[in-house]
Amino acid sequence: MNNVQGLLDFIDRSPTAFHATANICAELEKAGRTRLLEGEAWKLEPGRGYYVTRNMSSVIAFDMPKADVDSMRIIAAHSDSPTFKIKENAELSVRGKYTKLNVEKYGGMLFSTWFDRPLSVAGRIVVRTEKGIEARLVDIDKDILVIPNVAIHMNREINDGFKYNAQTDLMPLFGDGEAKGGFKKLVAEAAGVSEDDIIGNDLFLYPRIKGGILGREDEYIISPRLDDLECAYSGLAAFLAAEKPESGVNMLCVFDNEEVGSGTKQGADSTFLNDVISRIFIACGKTSEDACRALAASFMLSADNAHAVHPNHPEKTDEENCVFMNEGIVIKFNANQRYTTDAVSAAFFHRILADKDIPCQHFANRSDVAGGGTLGNISGSHVSINTLDIGLAQLAMHSACETAGAKDVDYMMNGMTAFYNTHVAVGADGEYFMN
Ligand code: ZN
Repeated sequence: MNNVQGLLDFIDRSPTAFHATANICAELEKAGRTRLLEGEAWKLEPGRGYYVTRNMSSVIAFDMPKADVDSMRIIAAHSDSPTFKIKENAELSVRGKYTKLNVEKYGGMLFSTWFDRPLSVAGRIVVRTEKGIEARLVDIDKDILVIPNVAIHMNREINDGFKYNAQTDLMPLFGDGEAKGGFKKLVAEAAGVSEDDIIGNDLFLYPRIKGGILGREDEYIISPRLDDLECAYSGLAAFLAAEKPESGVNMLCVFDNEEVGSGTKQGADSTFLNDVISRIFIACGKTSEDACRALAASFMLSADNAHAVHPNHPEKTDEENCVFMNEGIVIKFNANQRYTTDAVSAAFFHRILADKDIPCQHFANRSDVAGGGTLGNISGSHVSINTLDIGLAQLAMHSACETAGAKDVDYMMNGMTAFYNTHVAVGADGEYFMN
């Protein structure tokens, strides 16, 4: 249960990708890893651990081996979740009596789950400094907003299905008419700066729900942002629990912007991972050929949550290739390679899990359903290594409040730790030696 509470606390402290990244960095720092900056030269020492952030919202951590950099064991997850971003001109007035915040959607959320619950605002601001600009995190950390439903008496057909309009239906109420102009003030106060010094912002809504445990036998967890902070947190815990590598590099990547296609400078579709890997090889004095050989012996777990069979709609999932909460790590398959798993990467991970008696299950979408993509194949287009897509079974993906299995957190941490502890050497194409 300790790991479950640790996860729920981590999510609670991580209302945005910026905060998730800062919290991951704090844990890495506590565990003796050294921060690197992209703008400085890197001196890497054998047997030591490092981390680097980009845009304050993506982070890559790595532990250098005591011996040779002959392979990489990479786990990737994402730091962002669907939410609403506050527009630059943040306030809207209604009949002179209400102030609303002007928001647009970030990612594909279930709209209805954001209604009638206390919301707050967090993210990052950029302030003017004497010599330039500086970004800082901010969290208002107070119930300040609500997106109110229209009463049933004014919308009798709502329960027969309703098409929400993002420009009209989803703006959160912020206060009475007098409040106009008050939003920036509130942000400035929360950040401890003066209003005039704020010259840029990336601010997002978040639901004010604390994660908790539920079910007849406490078998489930319910929380915002389980997709994908559950995998990000498990990856971090495994990275820290793994043995210090003898040879090969252990690496943890938590990328921002998966929910909007990963195509940013800090997303999985950026140069970030490739840049870090290149710099590791350069710092070790490796040749390009050494790098190619090491990548041939490398594996990546792309970890992002999966759809459990829905209790009211079991027909939404394939009859056999379907997954349940608390039944172990999900390995995802897709013929069109929207999931990267193939026979080799699946067999590799099966062997690791079987040795440790960690349960796993197999997911494929119904053949008549496209399903969602994730970051594995996107990252693979930049760093082409053996990859498989895994995750944990959950319900209500992209709801403001999602449900998952309490037992699965340990399965994921243990499976990922075992992955980090497995050294790989490559033989012929399709032949790998594991120890
Ligand atoms: Zn996800």
